Amino acid sequence: MSMTTRLKERPVDGVLFDVDDTLVDTRGAFARALDAVRERYLPAAGPERLDEMLHHWRSDPGGWYRRYTRGETDHLTQRRHRAVLLHETFGGEPVTEALFEEWDELFWSTFEDSWTPFDDAAPALAAAREAGLRVGVVTNASVELQERKLASVGLGELPVLVGVDTLGFGKPDPRVFAEGARKLGTDPARTAYVGDEPALDAAAARDAGLLGVWLARHGVRRRLHETEDHDELRASGVVVIRGLAELPAALDGGREQASAPA
Ligand SMILES: [Mg+2]
Repeated sequence: MSMTTRLKERPVDGVLFDVDDTLVDTRGAFARALDAVRERYLPAAGPERLDEMLHHWRSDPGGWYRRYTRGETDHLTQRRHRAVLLHETFGGEPVTEALFEEWDELFWSTFEDSWTPFDDAAPALAAAREAGLRVGVVTNASVELQERKLASVGLGELPVLVGVDTLGFGKPDPRVFAEGARKLGTDPARTAYVGDEPALDAAAARDAGLLGVWLARHGVRRRLHETEDHDELRASGVVVIRGLAELPAALDGGREQASAPA
């Protein structure tokens, strides 16, 4: 078989998706939840500090969510520690057990009420299915939470194959991606993983032997990843797309893009 023929073969049989900030605008939902707790509990922090608060929350400076994804603590405990740190950083009263109970009721209910899908999510899933690809989810939150989240945004038919509670730990461990491909029923080398985080999603999937696709959305300010070098990632075998509408073409040419010189 010639090289040309090989490149024209469809490079993947299945696609695994991240959920948060890939299919669902979780960043926007956290912004609304944090604004609600800011108004009630952090009067010293004006609305102009919301962006800073969002960055603080998502960058997880205390490492509590990362502990959760390593199976070292539970979901509620990691959130309480992060609330404590948020109050210490932005000038709120100390977060006691009692305060946390009402804090979390406001934070979490606002977060859930704010879940919204990205406009390109449903069309991308439909296009993948039409192309005959198997689709599923590998996520660093619990299976139950992500099933509920996807159902509430109209994507409930997408199976959540692996959550942080499936193996007891999450991405970037390569076993998480391998388990996703196993459950999808595809060879890891013929499976793509699409996520918004270059290291945790795309590079980790590539290291696990999948085709790593980094979703670097237009208009989303990625403060966490400002220093990431697209060309360096591409050269290392990661495919970069700007929106999920680019996914079908990226998958067709994925191995070529990934192996082309930078
Ligand atoms: Mg994500």
